[in-house]
Amino acid sequence: MTRFFVFFFFFFSFSFSQIQKVDVSFYDLDLDFDIENKSIKGSNTIFFNVLESIDTLQLNLFQNFFIDSILFLDSKCDFKHIDNNIHIFLKDALHVGAYDIEVFYQGKPQIAKNAPWDGGFVWDKDSFGNDWVGVACQGIGSSVWWPGHDVLYDEADSIRFSATVPENLKVVSNGDLSFSKDTIVNGFHKKLFVWKNSYPINNYNLSVNIADYQHFSDTLLGVNGGLNLDYYVLKENFDVAVKHFSQVKPMLHFFEKKFGPYPFYSDGYALVETPYLGMEHQTCIAYGNQFKKGYLGKFPSDIDFDFIIIHETAHEWWGNNISMGHMNDMWIHEAFATYAEALYVEEMYGYDEMLVYLNYQKKKIKNKHPIKSDFFSSTDMYYKGSWMLHTLRTVLGNDYRWDDIIKGLQFEFKDKIVNTNDIIQYFMNSFFGVYKSKRKEGDYLSQNYQDSISYLYNRSNKPENLKAFFQQYLFESDLPILEYFYSYEGEGTFLNFRWNAVSDFDMPIIINNGKEKKQRKNLTPNRKKTYLARKDAFIKGRDNPNINKKLPLALWDDVISFFDFYINTIGEVPDSSFYIQHYTWIYPTNVWGKIPLIEPIVDDNQHHFDRTEDFFLIDIKKIK
Ligand SMILES: [Zn+2]
Repeated sequence: MTRFFVFFFFFFSFSFSQIQKVDVSFYDLDLDFDIENKSIKGSNTIFFNVLESIDTLQLNLFQNFFIDSILFLDSKCDFKHIDNNIHIFLKDALHVGAYDIEVFYQGKPQIAKNAPWDGGFVWDKDSFGNDWVGVACQGIGSSVWWPGHDVLYDEADSIRFSATVPENLKVVSNGDLSFSKDTIVNGFHKKLFVWKNSYPINNYNLSVNIADYQHFSDTLLGVNGGLNLDYYVLKENFDVAVKHFSQVKPMLHFFEKKFGPYPFYSDGYALVETPYLGMEHQTCIAYGNQFKKGYLGKFPSDIDFDFIIIHETAHEWWGNNISMGHMNDMWIHEAFATYAEALYVEEMYGYDEMLVYLNYQKKKIKNKHPIKSDFFSSTDMYYKGSWMLHTLRTVLGNDYRWDDIIKGLQFEFKDKIVNTNDIIQYFMNSFFGVYKSKRKEGDYLSQNYQDSISYLYNRSNKPENLKAFFQQYLFESDLPILEYFYSYEGEGTFLNFRWNAVSDFDMPIIINNGKEKKQRKNLTPNRKKTYLARKDAFIKGRDNPNINKKLPLALWDDVISFFDFYINTIGEVPDSSFYIQHYTWIYPTNVWGKIPLIEPIVDDNQHHFDRTEDFFLIDIKKIK
């Protein structure tokens, strides 16, 4: 889904006794659309496996629908439909095995007030007055329009969706069109379309798009062979769409290079024009950016690509291939998809332009809620999530290795449901070399994988530090604060610094020494230690001789005038993923613990942060 959440409420409800005891294998959804009355009628047959005996069976469907009947074990069964749940009355416990249950229902699905964010149906018209219908239900859940096991952790392995619509219209859904044919419903000539999605799929990704679509297609010669590209647009937009969608192929080539093969080759890739902005519907992405650049043509002002195409397509890897099991893990979808935008910019325009783009994203970071959060009014899972990933890449300090790690995620968790801990553990294992890859060597790994210098070897670091990194960025709303002051003794100038962050946070930083060939200096300040830098000598880690490094004489003068910490060693745009707090030294000691943390002198800060507008806000009050 795209950014800009509004509040929405969750009607997911599931019986805890069903958790991991029931596993849906296949949905066979069959609906007739009465567009004039904005209503639907039909059935869903749910094929599921009972993994462990159960004595209750519960499905999910919004309360506003009327359930005609439910067929189970060859007969109509009793049920109760309350609070958006269908409780099936079982005569006996269900033992381990395969079952199917068919729910017949009808009603008017909820209309979305502001799709795709609040979810529901959109009933619109094209410019010729033809009906144009779509649905978006991420967050609110698929039970807003069809009955099923509406939980994120239970994906069907495949879905067949049959939709009957007025004969002048077409239906586009996920996967492949098996067939379409004329039919008659209640005396009306209509048309039936049968679509088959053949991969595991989130419930919210099942989509229906109805319009007088005009179709065109293409083929991508991708890493796994020919990939069908299909485009469905309103007739009035056909010409502009043909031109506009030409950006799809280079984008897909790039994503395949970066993230591995497109995950759904058999089902193909499609963009479908929708009356709402966009949604990552698997293999049939909702496209509503009006064939404009950026985000509805508004921003960023100078980019020449379509934001919705890039972002929603990235979700085919991040969200649809690798999927969260619970809404509070949604950062896994959005952080990677948002960083994928930056990677696309890097590929097309270079690293410096990517930094410009990242800084555009940075302006939207709020630091009010943790990235991993149940609180869906926050957009930090997008922008701060993107920044967290870029920061992690810089911590690793080896882009070849980084690329393999990111691509490896796609192989490790292909078609899997993951949670935050899975991702953290994966990164820790990857960074520290104990990761046993399931990937096939050769095909997608860079040549440098084996040769790369890992975080493990070029820094005195350990897995706990990476854990602390994720603890700070995913679970805390505040950014870490790099605290420093200068002290002067005799001829020497000393830089004293430490992290004010979660315990064990030990992120290395870069100092730009202002030379033409900028140097990356990895300093590892520890929260409880003071490392001193003598102007004419060295940086010395008092308790860690490994970070004893010779530095150019001019370094500290440059540091005083300009901190270019951490991210950028090339371009002109400074970046940071943390606050910086300067204190003024008044006491002749070099032991941090004895320094009274006096109030920072604002004028002094001004002096040191001429370019503060490019950094995160320095909140003096915050650390008093
Ligand atoms: Zn998204």
